[in-house]
Amino acid sequence: MRFNKKLQDIKTYEAGKPIELVVREFGIKSKDIIKLASNENPYGCSPKVQEAVVDIVKNMALYPDDSMIKLKDALGKRFDVENDNIIIGSGSDQVIEFLIHAKANSNSKILTNSITFAMYEIYAKHVGATIIKTASQHHDLDQFYKLYKEQKPEIIFLCTPNNPTGDAIDKNELFNFIKKIDNDTLVVVDCAYMEYAILKDSSKEIVASELIKEFNNVIYLGTFSKAYGLGGMRVGYGISNTKIIKELYKLRPPFNITTLSLEAASVALSDEEFVKKSITLNFEQMKRYEEFAKEQKIDIINSYTNFVTLCLNSNQNSTKISNSLLRKGMIVRDLSGYGMNAIRVTVGKDEQNTHFFNLMIQCL
Ligand SMILES: *Cc1c(COP(=O)(O)O)cnc(C)c1O
Repeated sequence: MRFNKKLQDIKTYEAGKPIELVVREFGIKSKDIIKLASNENPYGCSPKVQEAVVDIVKNMALYPDDSMIKLKDALGKRFDVENDNIIIGSGSDQVIEFLIHAKANSNSKILTNSITFAMYEIYAKHVGATIIKTASQHHDLDQFYKLYKEQKPEIIFLCTPNNPTGDAIDKNELFNFIKKIDNDTLVVVDCAYMEYAILKDSSKEIVASELIKEFNNVIYLGTFSKAYGLGGMRVGYGISNTKIIKELYKLRPPFNITTLSLEAASVALSDEEFVKKSITLNFEQMKRYEEFAKEQKIDIINSYTNFVTLCLNSNQNSTKISNSLLRKGMIVRDLSGYGMNAIRVTVGKDEQNTHFFNLMIQCL
């Protein structure tokens, strides 16, 4: 059977290996498996969320509230924007899909960092757009500007903090860069880990309301999958001016968020204390990774997120090491697919991290 040619050279996105598959493949009991591969919050979500969803479960016959008013009100308050500045997606992934479909086609170019979130490229390929990448590992906005001038892309993706490297763009640099970009080029600022960056270094803080007040060609993306501990609920959002949001709405399938997810995300926003506490613990535990890397003479990238990227030495192989970790029930992310001899590890809870260090020493 023939399929859409655009799909031919798309590699299926490899999400962190699910615990269920490790159970089947290696016969390890699920209680003995630790997943530090997808940057979920190891402390879970606010207990208030768990209480709130119990009531929702009692009545699931009706379609969800498609106006999503409760969640939009909560997001509007949190980000100091109006409800019609917001679009909600089944994960911010879905918002990325909307905006690529809204802006790009097979004649378009899309500019990204050389190493960044893989879904930009996959959705770009859905519409046959050409991906242009900078050369350096971390966001170098001079390089971005040079390529922007040469190539005139339809969309520029900036990911700060960046996945899978954990580095972040300075706020002033980012604003100065966007000032130089033409109004017809959409600049996407993906802030999936911004809650973490803010607590580590305020010079990295990108404020959505400031961004959209100053620029009308920018969209800010956020998610409940990381700091809010709701990866299983699939809720993300885009914040932008009303014109852009209106266009994205044309691509949104009805009822794209479940009743359960809407409630969970709304309530999660009311418990910022919980989120702050888990971020504080995250950076405490991250120090142990920094010490571990130093002891083992491995490079670690300074991270503004809830994961660390360990850049291995040339006599160590990231694929081999992540596979042997996997056989011991430890799931991490091999970054060889990004052209890096590195592994990305989500910073877990104290005992999970201790376990990682012990297994890693066996593998090195
Ligand atoms: C996790 C992540 C997302 C999207 O997560 P969703 O679960 O789809 O909301 C987007 N961008 C980056 C950089 C991420 O790491």
